[in-house]
Amino acid sequence: MEELKNRLQKVKEKITVSANKVNRDPRNIKLLPISKNQSPEKINYFYEQGIETFGENRVQELREKNEKLKNKNINWHFVGHLQRNKVKYLLRMNNCIMIQSVDSLRLAREINKRASKNNREISILIEVNVSGDQSKFGFKPEKTMKSIKKIDQLSWLNQKGLMTLAPYVEDPEESRPYFKKLAEIFQEANEQGYQLSELSMGMTNDYQIAIEEGATIVRVGRGLFGSRR
Ligand SMILES: *Cc1c(COP(=O)(O)O)cnc(C)c1O
Repeated sequence: MEELKNRLQKVKEKITVSANKVNRDPRNIKLLPISKNQSPEKINYFYEQGIETFGENRVQELREKNEKLKNKNINWHFVGHLQRNKVKYLLRMNNCIMIQSVDSLRLAREINKRASKNNREISILIEVNVSGDQSKFGFKPEKTMKSIKKIDQLSWLNQKGLMTLAPYVEDPEESRPYFKKLAEIFQEANEQGYQLSELSMGMTNDYQIAIEEGATIVRVGRGLFGSRR
């Protein structure tokens, strides 16, 4: 666990360094540990260090961990590709507070429906496939504004912003154009009056670049937990 402490310290330092580099307040950058394939014990360790929100990318795994950690005040963000038939499980969990990976209108409508059934609102981010990579989910950049407009009509959804996964590259500098692109769409939406506040971009390999380009949420897995089982 000493290792986890050191990693957390290091990631926090790097967030501060990157924020300072571009004159941003590091307090405006939220560190979201991605706990997929990691043990509840490790999650609990970070929880005891003051982190209360974690990200998972599979519904079943999220439910199991939530069960094991049910006596803690942990909140969850869902960050993986979500099948419509599994949306109901997430909406039943009041501590699943955000779905970051809304990648189609059909999915958005299903989340809205299930939110209504459970009489609760939920925060969402729109996932944008900025690289156009066929293996990735998300709206095409040129279709995103239109989708924001449509999703804005769904009254149980609190549309908070945008999320993306940059393609894996050796040199994180190569991800910069993708982050810039997402930040541009974010700015455009805000100019049109949508009041988006969250830009979820950057993972272990590239979160420092993402912060330089405006990330408000960085999703760090291995950089905190170590390599996955
Ligand atoms: C796994 C995952 C991450 C974290 O990846 P690391 O490289 O371990 O930091 C971030 N976002 C999503 C959507 C993921 O699935």
